[in-house]
Amino acid sequence: RAKKSASSNFEYYAADMEQHTYERLAMMRKLRTDFTARKLELWFQPQISLKDESVIGMEALLRWPEGNGNYISPAVFIPLAEYTGLIVDIGYWVLEEACRRLVELNKKGYEGLRMAVNISVPQFRDPDFVPLVKHIISQHGVEPAQLELEITESVAMDEPKIVVDSLTTLKNFGIRIAIDDFGTGFSSMSYLQSLPLDRLKVDRAFLKDVGHVKSSAFIADTIVTLAKRLGLETIAEGVENPEQVHYIRDLGCDEAQGFLYAKPMPFDQLLDYIANYQPLNIT
Ligand code: C2E
Ligand code: MG
Ligand code: MG
Ligand code: MG
Repeated sequence: RAKKSASSNFEYYAADMEQHTYERLAMMRKLRTDFTARKLELWFQPQISLKDESVIGMEALLRWPEGNGNYISPAVFIPLAEYTGLIVDIGYWVLEEACRRLVELNKKGYEGLRMAVNISVPQFRDPDFVPLVKHIISQHGVEPAQLELEITESVAMDEPKIVVDSLTTLKNFGIRIAIDDFGTGFSSMSYLQSLPLDRLKVDRAFLKDVGHVKSSAFIADTIVTLAKRLGLETIAEGVENPEQVHYIRDLGCDEAQGFLYAKPMPFDQLLDYIANYQPLNIT
């Protein structure tokens, strides 16, 4: 068999890249079109107190319908939207929609629930970000403390000055701030301490093998201890079974979010979930 020359290898590789780039471009264009046509959906995943198993709030999570009943994962399209900058406009829509839903919940008598919204790096770079967030909240008449912004460690590390300044202003306005996927990034402890944080979200990676002999769950332990020392609340993500609830409750973790309680769902289903909610009574 003839050995492929370096150049034909390269051509093959280049063609492959081109295909890849073409698909990405097509996807970016479709995302923009669908967003403009208001086809994106905001779903919600409940967050549960570990003290009394009550529903204390929810996280808003984007969904992009393909039209055939399937959804494109945010893990796929959020990076694209960040790359093109479209996440800035999508992000304002997410905040609007989150506030609108909070008002609906308040009107139905479910007052004091909290709504967590994910925020990406490019959103902080938009000079209108802080004033617009305040404006959206005020316009809907939402209590700022009902809203929580989730940022990852990478967001925090990307533009430390802008991020610290923006978050401090928003925090003074009354908005809550959480660090998402905590423990998967590489933020420095001293920098973390300079952020006006309310809580840490323990990444689901650290709960995966709770109960196994060789477990990385001790990291969750360390994170909860750190959070307490810093005076922060804690929530564990990716809680899928009662063993994990036992574990994080014993650590003194405040809240849980995960498939054990509920998967992310459209708003109408969330209303049903809250109305018919029964604690699992995990002992
Ligand atoms: P995230 O903020 O860490 O959100 C939690 C992810 O974990 C969600 O994935 C959720 O569906 C999933 N999850 C929750 N409980 C469980 C569980 O028990 N087991 C497992 N295996 N997974 C669980 P999702 O909805 O696919 O979102 C992925 C990521 O996309 C989010 O991670 C967030 O970083 C990003 N994202 C979603 N919506 C938005 C948004 O509106 N704006 C921005 N900037 N990013 C968003
Ligand atoms: Mg999140
Ligand atoms: Mg997370
Ligand atoms: Mg994440």
